[in-house]
Amino acid sequence: MEKPIKILCKGCKIKTNHNLISEKSFEWTYEGMWGQNDHQLLICNGCDSVTYRQVSMNSEDKHPSGSKDKDGKIVWELDEAVTLYPPRHKVMISPIRLVWHLPVEVREVYMEVIDSFNSKIPRLCGIGIRMLIETICNHLKIKKGDLIDRINLLHIKNLVSTNLSDGLQESRFVGNDCAHKAELFSYDELEAAFSLIDALINEIYILPKKVAKLKKRNSRKEKK
Ligand SMILES: [Zn+2]
Repeated sequence: MEKPIKILCKGCKIKTNHNLISEKSFEWTYEGMWGQNDHQLLICNGCDSVTYRQVSMNSEDKHPSGSKDKDGKIVWELDEAVTLYPPRHKVMISPIRLVWHLPVEVREVYMEVIDSFNSKIPRLCGIGIRMLIETICNHLKIKKGDLIDRINLLHIKNLVSTNLSDGLQESRFVGNDCAHKAELFSYDELEAAFSLIDALINEIYILPKKVAKLKKRNSRKEKK
């Protein structure tokens, strides 16, 4: 059996061993150059998700291996260009643990926005973060004004803390400029925005459910 290949898994969100299910290799030559493309299907040993991996190399792209042959000549190694599909980002974002507590329309946008980050589509991810905050406000029937006004209303209605409201309003994602142009955000900015989004979701949808559960448990104890 072939040695497992360690790659970042989109399902497990960490590097895991993948087994090779199938492989086809093609060689090519062009004006004295030589190259090879390996097309592989890999399956994750942890979650069974399947990844397509392409490994390409050619006679022009190479680097010294650090060793010499018996005649004292440098041994060269070919550079390998590896492409994975679906694409993945080196930092993978996972959904919050109790994601099923979210209303369907919010959960669908939330999962799509995470997918756009993990698939390295930063512009769509930036637009998606704004759309996600809008969807949450719409679900709470807060539809007046622009996004900054609506976040303000979330705070006035005691749905989010002052810190979180300030953080969201400071974020470039909710600025009016962002609504009219496909702005490119860095992955650091997107990651930071996700921590605000997770805090928002936690305060609005998760915490109230936990508190209600706790109150129910305590009232049952008092009755006994
Ligand atoms: Zn996996």
